[in-house]
Order: sequence, then C-alpha cells, then structure tokens
Amino acid sequence: MNEADSENIAAAFRRRGYALTEDIKKADAVVVNTCTVRQKAEDKAISQIGRLRVWKEKRPDGKLFVVGCAAQKLGGKYLKQKFPFVDEVVGAKAIEQFEDSLIAQLGPSPETETSHQNIYRSPQTAYTTIMRGCSLKCSYCIVPAVRGPAVCLSPDAVLADAADKLKSGAKEIVLLGQTVNSYKYGKTTFSELLRKVLALPGLQRLRFMSPHPIYFDDAFLQLLAAEPKLARHMHLPVQSGSDRILKLMRRGYTRSGYLALLERLRAAAPGLAVSTDFIVGYPGETEEDFKDTLLLVKEGRFSLAYCFKYSPRTDKPEMAAAISETVMETRLEKLLAAVKENSRLVLNERIGKIEEVLFETETYGRASGNFAVRVKAGGTPGQMAEVLVSGAEKNTLNGKIQ
Ligand code: SAH
Ligand code: SF4
Repeated sequence: MNEADSENIAAAFRRRGYALTEDIKKADAVVVNTCTVRQKAEDKAISQIGRLRVWKEKRPDGKLFVVGCAAQKLGGKYLKQKFPFVDEVVGAKAIEQFEDSLIAQLGPSPETETSHQNIYRSPQTAYTTIMRGCSLKCSYCIVPAVRGPAVCLSPDAVLADAADKLKSGAKEIVLLGQTVNSYKYGKTTFSELLRKVLALPGLQRLRFMSPHPIYFDDAFLQLLAAEPKLARHMHLPVQSGSDRILKLMRRGYTRSGYLALLERLRAAAPGLAVSTDFIVGYPGETEEDFKDTLLLVKEGRFSLAYCFKYSPRTDKPEMAAAISETVMETRLEKLLAAVKENSRLVLNERIGKIEEVLFETETYGRASGNFAVRVKAGGTPGQMAEVLVSGAEKNTLNGKIQ
C-alpha cells in the first residue's frame, strides 16, 4: 500500500517536471514515506529522517516531505519539533491530499496528467488501490488507527486507474486493499469488480492483495475456477496456527477453517500457490501454540511466508504476559527454517511442469503462482510464455521456454 502511495506521489512530482533519482545529492526534494506496522519500521523511518539533516543543510532550498503511517501516528507537531528541517508532514489518512502539500511548497502543477510509471515491482506490473483503511480490529494491528476505517473506491475510479496503467504499458494489475476481498461499492461486490477489471483491454494477468479468509464466497470461487487471467497465487495471511492465539488476535477464523478454505481455493484453482504471514511471540503464546504454527507451515503447503516477531503497537491492558526477546528469537528462527524447508519442497513439486510466465527481461519473469522464473534466453519483456521447469534454486524456478 505504501509502495502504491509512493508511486502516486512520484507521479504528482512528475507533473511538475521532476524525475526520480537514486542519488540524494542530485535530489531537489525528498519524500520519506513511513511505515509503522512494527516498531522497527517506525524506528528506521525516524533515523532516516534524522540523517536527512545533512542533505537539508547542503540544500536549504530543497524540500523534505515526511508522509505515511508513522507520520500519522506521531503527528506533524511532534515531527516538526524533533526535526525542524522537515518542510511538510502528511499523515496516511491525508495521503490523497498530498497534492495540496505540494501546491503549498512548490505551487500548482502546470500539467493535470502524466503517464504512470511503475517503480516497485516491474515495468509490467502496476498497483491499483481499490480500498483504503481497514474496519477489522485484529488486536495487534495499528493499521485501522493510522489509515482509518475501510473506504472503497468506486468501480469507475478503479477501472479508470487500471485502464490508465494498462495504456501506459502495464500487463499485470495488482488490486490493493487491507481486506481486499471485502470490497463492496453500492451493489458492486469484489467478484463483480474483478470481472470488470478482467475485461479491460491489454490486461494479461490480475492479482490482488491481501484477501482476508473471512470474506471469500462461492461467487469468487466460481470466478477463480473460470478465469485463467486471475493469478494462481493467493497471499493469505494466517498469523498463527493456534486456535487460542487466533481468537486472542480476533482474526475471525480457526486453524481448521483456514485449512478448509485452502482446500476449497485449491479445488477451484488446481496448483494454486499460497503464501502467508506469521506473527511469533504474541503475548501468552505457549510452546504448544507455537508448535501448532510450525505444523501449519507444512499442512498449508505455503510457497512462501513472511515471519514477524510480535511488536507491541496498541496498549491492551488485558493482554497476557509478553514473550521474552530470547524466546521470540528462538521461535522466529525455528519458523524461518521450517518455512525455508517447506518452500523448497513446494518449489520442487513444480519441476517437470509448465508455468505461464510473464517476462520482465529476456531471461527473467514471474509465474502465475508468483514464483520468480529464470530461462537462459528467449523471453520477450511484457509477454507471456510457457516455461517447462527443469530445476529450482532458493526462491527461483529454472526452465526453458516451450
Ligand atoms: N491486512 C492484512 C495485513 C496487513 S499488515 C491482513 O490482515 O492480512 C501486514 C502484516 O504485518 C500482517 O499480516 C502481520 O503479519 C504483520 N503485523 C501486523 N501488525 C503486527 C505487529 N503488531 N507485530 C508483528 N507483525 C505485525
Ligand atoms: Fe490489521 Fe489486516 Fe487485521 Fe485490518 S485485517 S486490522 S489491516 S491485520
């Protein structure tokens, strides 16, 4: 979501004749788009802003913007007091009004439109935000507080944005939202929105992130089964394999409910790759609870999992005893090892099979299941080709174009 916001911010600068630079010495403006989902992310943002003091001293006319979720949490007053050299602070809730801050600092834009430029994933893959904020209340999570309740964009706005990005050369669209499959605008459901986006000319593949287990319905499963352009990959965060912890986290599903959902998704889309997120060391997590999480890695057949140590974000007096840093570290290491071993097995299962690959360079692309794929030659950037997989290494499949 932050990457998508950053791309929109970059576009607002481009309308004023600015271009991106990797070299801070050349920069006329710097935007720090902050995250606060875990304390570490917030700390990193703070030290990054601190380091920009030197840049600002050398470039007193340069403009420094601090935006996003940590900016929302800490507030403009606090940040400007701590870092007086910051020119503008725009919190996540006001991120769509970033243009106003730009006008205040740099004046109005001479242009109203610019062609989109994908910065993060690949030139062929563009993000389209379909909903902002979140209306769930997972106990550990700061997102609803810093991004506000869920607000869906109209289907017209979504289609206009996606069509624009396809016109600018994107082949693959990633629809974004915190509980993306809970999308509802008037009578338009998530599945109906997917249908509309799937019908856009030029679209080769459609992804979305992140769905929440409680919002899948039969209409979606039918669409998934019928629509090969829907990526055969789902990033479906589970967080824990223990029913007790899932309940404390207020996730709204059980371990067996989650596994049953995976079965239904995989029945609709054979070969579907599923990745996930885990949190270890949630307050009160016992060895038994953690064992349930470890076992789930194999049972869920996840192709990949992002594993995080629990980071206290919200002060909840009812929370059970915190888990010590040492225990958390040990559990994280065990989980990472289990995930790595399992990913290897899942990737090896692909050997000898055909993958639909969207190429980014002549030798590199991404499979529908979101696996990185390498070939020796023959890929055409922006085009899909079938690759026969001959081997797997780390998180990459190797093969030959058919
Ligand atoms: N909306 C998505 C998740 C968004 S946050 C969903 O519900 O699936 C991205 C990930 O950060 C989460 O899946 C979770 O694993 C992790 N996360 C969120 N809050 C955290 C916290 N307090 N400590 C550690 N990890 C956290
Ligand atoms: Fe946070 Fe995701 Fe839960 Fe929303 S659904 S509160 S964003 S973890």
